[in-house]
Amino acid sequence: MLTQLGMKRKAAKRMRVAYPCRVCKQDCLQGQDSVQCDGCESWMHTHCIQMTKNQLDTFTVNQHFNFFCLQCSMDATGSFNCRASLARIASHVPPAPPVDATSHDPDVDANHLPDIQAIREQAESERNLLSFYNVVLPPIDWYTTDHIDVDQTSVEMLRKHCSWLLARFTPVTTTGDGNCMYRAISYALFGTQSHHVHLRLLCCIELLANRSFYDSTCSQFYEPYKADPELVLQDYETYVVETVKDGADADMLTILCISSVVHKPIQTHWPITVRPGKSSPFTKLVTGRDVSTLQPIHILWTVSHFDPRRKEVVINHFVPLIDGPVNPASPIISPVEEHDTAPEVVVVQDEDNNDEKPCADGEPLPLKFLTTKECVEFVSGNTACPVRDEVPAGRYFCFVLVTFCITVDIVVACIFFFDFLDFMK
Ligand SMILES: [Zn+2]
Ligand SMILES: [Zn+2]
Repeated sequence: MLTQLGMKRKAAKRMRVAYPCRVCKQDCLQGQDSVQCDGCESWMHTHCIQMTKNQLDTFTVNQHFNFFCLQCSMDATGSFNCRASLARIASHVPPAPPVDATSHDPDVDANHLPDIQAIREQAESERNLLSFYNVVLPPIDWYTTDHIDVDQTSVEMLRKHCSWLLARFTPVTTTGDGNCMYRAISYALFGTQSHHVHLRLLCCIELLANRSFYDSTCSQFYEPYKADPELVLQDYETYVVETVKDGADADMLTILCISSVVHKPIQTHWPITVRPGKSSPFTKLVTGRDVSTLQPIHILWTVSHFDPRRKEVVINHFVPLIDGPVNPASPIISPVEEHDTAPEVVVVQDEDNNDEKPCADGEPLPLKFLTTKECVEFVSGNTACPVRDEVPAGRYFCFVLVTFCITVDIVVACIFFFDFLDFMK
């Protein structure tokens, strides 16, 4: 893009034509801080568009940064055009090689290699533009939607394979257009799918700006993924090329990326048990960079279609799981209730709209957790059971607050780790 410095280079051209500011209609003169739109090529005085000196300097120093005027940055609804921004990043991805290419010509192959640096520079430019126009995600607005479009396909599948999830969550329909992961997160956070393009754009920017966290060949790659030999992921460059395309499928790297972007952990649920007692590599509590809260967003892998050839359903679709059972009359699963001597048990649900860690009254056991069986033993009077130091990542869990009345005056409250997988055994 061209700023006032660039104008000097265009001095010859300036001699022949005028450069009226598209805002105030006065000429942008030599020596006046001005900037040219890379879309409509109009010039504008920086003071006419409230561009600060620092912002102008950023554009000037980074020659690969584009500037688009307000008119060229917005879509028909008057919102920042995230789709166009994404398309500018994707424009640096070379076309795929012809499908009928039978030989591997190194020269042809080289033409189709992605130029990750060019893609990253465009992503930096888009980030700068978002910042200039102060385009941010809306504030989190959980579950204010009056009408919930329950995803019946997921309900049927969960009834068959993972009914405990239905006791706690409602799966909500998302459009299956390749953007379903972004749609699911958008719905879970804002009660609408409509921010899915914005989320994808932010993911692309995040992914390109912090390669070492997302590239499995780097030593700083996300540890829990690195530690799971069963989790097969795309290589970084292939993943970048896919992610920058609107409508391209998501995977566990996307979950990691979105978690970083929205600063929240994401708990994914793969609904079908492959080996009893063992979690799927697609069931994980994923915590991205700079995640500041503990309350996860719950996402379900669900049925995308039926494969008639293999006569089985294909699970390649995502829907959000929002708090509350599908049927409000469904009881919350609680193993302790089966015991006559059980004290009062309150399941602490993720319903704190303040987005803060669940907090128990009384004296909690900080960082100490028990499995369900251990909980039952504990509350049945056998207090000699071992206490775990941390919650195993990727398990189905919630916290259970148990209060004991030791005497009339002494009430003790503890938080236990409630492990559904252990319970279901
Ligand atoms: Zn002006
Ligand atoms: Zn323009």
